[in-house]
Amino acid sequence: MDPYFQYRKDIIDCCQWLCRHGYFGSLLSAGGNVSVRIPDEPVVVITPSGKPYMELVPENICVVDFNLNRIDSDLAPSIETAMHVGIYQNRADVGAVVHTHQAYASVFALINQPIPALFDEVALAIGETVDVVPYAFSGTPELVENVTRTVTNGCNCFIMQNHGALNLGQTLDAGWKNAELLEKTAQVYYHALTTGKPVTTLPAHDL
Ligand SMILES: [Zn+2]
Repeated sequence: MDPYFQYRKDIIDCCQWLCRHGYFGSLLSAGGNVSVRIPDEPVVVITPSGKPYMELVPENICVVDFNLNRIDSDLAPSIETAMHVGIYQNRADVGAVVHTHQAYASVFALINQPIPALFDEVALAIGETVDVVPYAFSGTPELVENVTRTVTNGCNCFIMQNHGALNLGQTLDAGWKNAELLEKTAQVYYHALTTGKPVTTLPAHDL
């Protein structure tokens, strides 16, 4: 009996939905990565490096500890595993991390512009802002440092400069839904900005 089986299966379900809906930027590659923290243990269950999402089976999903030692993995874990661990170590409220290359959030990753809370549901689920994590190359300690410093604002979504998006949640379902909510918000905000007209934000007291 695999104690991590359900986590592995849930991660595959999430990744294949995100893949089919274009959240990893390309249907054929393996961009992005998704993890879940095991409650009360310094252990994460995370997608492997370089295997297309639509080909994943449960035993491909990696189990590693917070020191990045493999507990149960037949493939190499994502090169961003240290980034996921860094988030869990700095955000006790976070139980899942969904890192995507989703298109409209990536527009803001290129113009380096935070997205304010534009709708009530964004303020409630994501927080008062979607801030930009400064650029560093994928898989580097500099990126881990930039991410862990930025996520301490307590919000649940972030834009990664010239890279993609980070969506956090207490559960995998919450992180997954936040990815979709961020994309919808970024899409609407982008189109609103292109009108050239002033864009209204929520009154401060509603946040
Ligand atoms: Zn990425």
